[in-house]
Amino acid sequence: MKIKDIFKQKTVFSFEVFPPKKTSSIDTVYNTLDELKGLSPDFISVTFSAGGSGNGALSCEIASKIKEGNHVEPMIHLPCINYSKDEISAVLDELDKRGIENILALRGDINPDIEPKRNFEHASDLITFIKSKGDYDIAGACYPEGHVDSESLVEDVLNLKKKVDAGADHLITQLFFDNDAFYRFREKIAIAGINVPVEAGIMPVVNKNQIERMVSMCGASLPAKFVKMMQKYENNPEALRDAGIAYAINQIVDLLADGVDGIHLYTMNNSYVAKKISDAVSGLIGSRKK
Ligand code: FAD
Repeated sequence: MKIKDIFKQKTVFSFEVFPPKKTSSIDTVYNTLDELKGLSPDFISVTFSAGGSGNGALSCEIASKIKEGNHVEPMIHLPCINYSKDEISAVLDELDKRGIENILALRGDINPDIEPKRNFEHASDLITFIKSKGDYDIAGACYPEGHVDSESLVEDVLNLKKKVDAGADHLITQLFFDNDAFYRFREKIAIAGINVPVEAGIMPVVNKNQIERMVSMCGASLPAKFVKMMQKYENNPEALRDAGIAYAINQIVDLLADGVDGIHLYTMNNSYVAKKISDAVSGLIGSRKK
């Protein structure tokens, strides 16, 4: 099923997983997926070569497991900056063979150790290419506080419009901790004429190192109450995890009350955390839109 059709029926609730590191067995993520399936997500997305790690083949295998083994709709992330057109075509052929029709089209992280192939400069170029190859559901990434490469949020929103005009059916945001930033962003994109569904990407903070790394990479702002929570519990991992779960639940409840199109949970392959959050909010998400 194409994910754009799920948005027509209900508020979407989805998860992100990533392939295991080269030193871990693929069974670790399969066990996580078995647990996530019980939470009835609308789809599960799987990252692809995040950070230029080059683990694309595993991502296709995991997407198949989501579809065939877990009977959940998969979405595969597809970054383009380090791939040629032929290589992207080969991935699309592989997806066709596996019956995977939902793609998150991305430029990809730039790895300083890899010279980009530059057959595609931006996600919008990839979207145009994918659309010329077949009938896929295409998502794009968006940045409530602006992408780090952009000089301003306005410039980034104008570029986002190009991505949507190229054919992105819906969008997923980068993580954010300040819902007001998301609401301001939604107003700006509406003014720019972007009216596809936008899922809010929520990352529960479960350890201090994780959040420092993520925030330094993406530049998300940290509200005072978030910083206070981190400072209070930074030396107590269990308390920090519980506080991080509670913070994410609060964010989600506020977003749902505001009528968000969907919630995409960055699970960090942690099914315990996903379950706690899912149990807390599933009654609010409901099954069908009126
Ligand atoms: P683009 O849309 O190309 O934007 C990049 C920059 O170029 C922005 O500053 C934008 O304003 C500008 N721009 C965009 N289009 C144009 C245009 N037509 N003309 C001029 N300027 C333009 N990376 C991975 O490697 N693997 C993953 O699995 C992965 N998953 C992700 C999932 C989500 C939900 C998100 C938010 C990000 C993910 N990333 C992943 C990271 C992503 O690849 C990086 O954030 C990357 O820096 C930008 O990707 P993009 O698709 O948003 O790029």
